[in-house]
Amino acid sequence: MEVNFVTNLLEEGLIDQDIYQKILDIHRDTGAGFHTILLNNFILSESVLLEKLEDYYETPGIMLDELEIDIEAIEAVPEKAARDLQIIPLFVLGNTIGIGVEDPFNVDTLDYVKVLTGLKVQPFLCLGSGILHKLDEVYAVKDSIQKAIQTISDDKRNMEAAGEYLDDIQVRVEESSAPVVQLVNHILHQGFVMGASDIHLEPLGNRIALRYRIDGILHEFPGPPKILYSSIISRIKILSDMDLAERRHPQDGRINKIVYGQQIDFRVSIIPFIYGEGIVIRILVKKSRFNLSEIGFEEDDYLKIMKTITRPFGLILVTGPTGSGKSTSLFAILSHLNSPEKKIITLEDPVEHRLDGIMQLQAREDIGLTYTLGLKSVLRHDPDIVMLGEIRDKQSADITIRLALTGHLVLSTLHTNDASTSIDRLIEMGVPPYLVSETLIAALAQRLLRQLCDKCKKSDETMTGDKLKELISKSYNSSEAFSIYKPAGCEDCNNFGYKGRMAIYEIMMNDWDLKTAIPIKDFSSSSVRTYLRSTKVRSLRESGFLKALQGLTSIEEVYANTVEDVTM
Ligand SMILES: [Zn+2]
Repeated sequence: MEVNFVTNLLEEGLIDQDIYQKILDIHRDTGAGFHTILLNNFILSESVLLEKLEDYYETPGIMLDELEIDIEAIEAVPEKAARDLQIIPLFVLGNTIGIGVEDPFNVDTLDYVKVLTGLKVQPFLCLGSGILHKLDEVYAVKDSIQKAIQTISDDKRNMEAAGEYLDDIQVRVEESSAPVVQLVNHILHQGFVMGASDIHLEPLGNRIALRYRIDGILHEFPGPPKILYSSIISRIKILSDMDLAERRHPQDGRINKIVYGQQIDFRVSIIPFIYGEGIVIRILVKKSRFNLSEIGFEEDDYLKIMKTITRPFGLILVTGPTGSGKSTSLFAILSHLNSPEKKIITLEDPVEHRLDGIMQLQAREDIGLTYTLGLKSVLRHDPDIVMLGEIRDKQSADITIRLALTGHLVLSTLHTNDASTSIDRLIEMGVPPYLVSETLIAALAQRLLRQLCDKCKKSDETMTGDKLKELISKSYNSSEAFSIYKPAGCEDCNNFGYKGRMAIYEIMMNDWDLKTAIPIKDFSSSSVRTYLRSTKVRSLRESGFLKALQGLTSIEEVYANTVEDVTM
């Protein structure tokens, strides 16, 4: 580690001039490394040091005591090589191996591992002091896992031959369950590292299917051996506090786990199908940083949003189906509004992300804290801004409107396909049209589109002539420059051709024309759509076209995720 790093600490005010000088003196006199000096003299804690190093090297870090051992990674790197290079093999994922290193800029080490394993190398920062110690543990575990897998397979074969009752085997598997523990960890970790939203494990007659939902699409991966499936179910049930013996009714549970230094919430659901129990695990990564300018608004839309959210009271709705990124948008808005002068309360079911400075309340039907009761109590806590997870029925609609009418800025969501339908939905829920007109500030409909992988996207030659002209006019594109691409596939995107997702929006402002139209008797959302298009408000599909013209997504992705605009 260089002196620069220590100088940065001084500049950030984490150490003062005296300590800075002392560190340099010790380094000069004893030759000790800066890590060691900082830790041994209790100048920084391990976690703070790692955090600062992450910033310095711009590389994610990992605390070694939280490390879960990945058998595949250990097998890819022989013990001697790991010791010589002082690296920890962390995981193998497709054609990438993750390794823990002290210096992520040491190209020689990374190249060596690449040649040795034939895999792409992804470095993670570790504090050097712990690496050698951890290596002892890691390679000791490797031997015991191999032995245990052998024993289980032998046991099972012997028992089946002898016709013994299967549950006995399961009990034994639990007792010597190291490989099952590793396997379940591997399945969970792999899902997290690939950025999956859900993990699906399903018994399919003669095999176990393992699929990950990544950027909205299911991808199949090699499943675990069928011989271990019942033990895997038991392990997952134990982890998520479910009833081990219950195999006829569906069960729900959750697993809280630290993966690569991040707190992850795994929501588990098990359903007994005819071939056996199927498992779906939703991965909730708690984000604590949201930035409104980074969530993909077009410039004109961003300006509209800024105008709406600074209003002192009224209702802002975000609409779309489950998994369309509504809560990310809401939290980005809340983060932007968050300040000591504003009291912000949220009522959610469940709380997915946590934000500093905001009071978050989780509805809990099991203890009688219903959504409606929660809403009523929020009213009494004198908030300025309230975020409600969802307007789900007449009762919650009533309270929401009352909040918006009485001087609060209220943010919430609705399940509607586009922005204009949200007006109909509120009226259907029994809100009088004049109150909708009065309180609604804006409705944002949104969808997520997969983003083309930058490394491999190819020019899409099919979009030319009139087709192209239509696209350009429909997206109200002000720029002359555009380039349309389609997906290809490379090692960077696991051959998917896409990497990550982005939001597209339709933003309906409840302007004067709409306000006066809503209370009129023959109001219809299709006439609102016509009005929106006439004022150049992009529909979801048109918003998608614009992203395609910018080369960010493909035309197919736009068609697959949006519907044709029907106007009168
Ligand atoms: Zn790619």
